Amino acid sequence: MPYPARELAPGVFAVLGDTGRGSEGRPNAGFVVTPEGVVVIDALASPAQGERLLATIRARTRQPPRWLILTHHHPDHHFGAIALRRAGAKVIAHPDRRTLAAEGGEDALRAEWTGVVGAEAMRGFEYANAADRRVTGTDTLRLGGRTLVISHPGAAHSPGDLVVWLPKERVLFAGDLLVEDGVTMVVDGDSRLLLDALARIDARDPRVVVPGHGAIPKRPATLLAATRRYLTGLQSDMRSAVEKGVPMQRALASLPPADGERPVSLNSRKRRNAVRVYLEEERRFMGLDSSP
Ligand SMILES: [Zn+2]
Repeated sequence: MPYPARELAPGVFAVLGDTGRGSEGRPNAGFVVTPEGVVVIDALASPAQGERLLATIRARTRQPPRWLILTHHHPDHHFGAIALRRAGAKVIAHPDRRTLAAEGGEDALRAEWTGVVGAEAMRGFEYANAADRRVTGTDTLRLGGRTLVISHPGAAHSPGDLVVWLPKERVLFAGDLLVEDGVTMVVDGDSRLLLDALARIDARDPRVVVPGHGAIPKRPATLLAATRRYLTGLQSDMRSAVEKGVPMQRALASLPPADGERPVSLNSRKRRNAVRVYLEEERRFMGLDSSP
């Protein structure tokens, strides 16, 4: 059963995930059809979802998947990769696969994720997020007359972030640098690097941005501005707390508590980000961070 897809430009599709659920929903993915095969962007959260992504592609073209670009190494974006790989796709990814979620090792993450998506959806799972083609800077993929500029925006949302830009169509796949509600997670990344990355996205003046999760904004600038506003507000709150010697627990007191069983709910993201940004500001205040 195919997923809903939206043609953003001729041959350029967003595979639409859930909307209204923030980072908890099924992510967005995408694909670009060329006469020499299909370039797929992200693989979704399980082999079963990867198969449905393939069905979505096959409903639109008879071209086979040639490349799978992973925007990063969080499980909800790459646990379906094995389905694409078995269908013949080679993987383009950043080689840094470290994430908090995987700190306990690959087996523990697999077991934990099976608890999230269910054993049925995980049938046939193998890790398939290691790069056949590594990108740590900028790499231009040319296939069948299409140009995709793949670049590492810094460790903004996670160490292995990549964004995918189609300069001719002016479509940008942002991965989890953007989420529909403007509350991008930075616990695996860095709020200042994220702001830098957002500025570079803005400078490209995209016609369409596809966020990692949720509705595609009518105007990219609106979601970029909302995300920037959230991050700069959080930075300035945490900076002033640090400068006044307010301990972290008190600095976080005005935030709603995290939701225990929902690590990426809106409240959980806000609280976990606040912890992260407090620590960033503290390092800066103590002179431990020499970056500008
Ligand atoms: Zn993510």
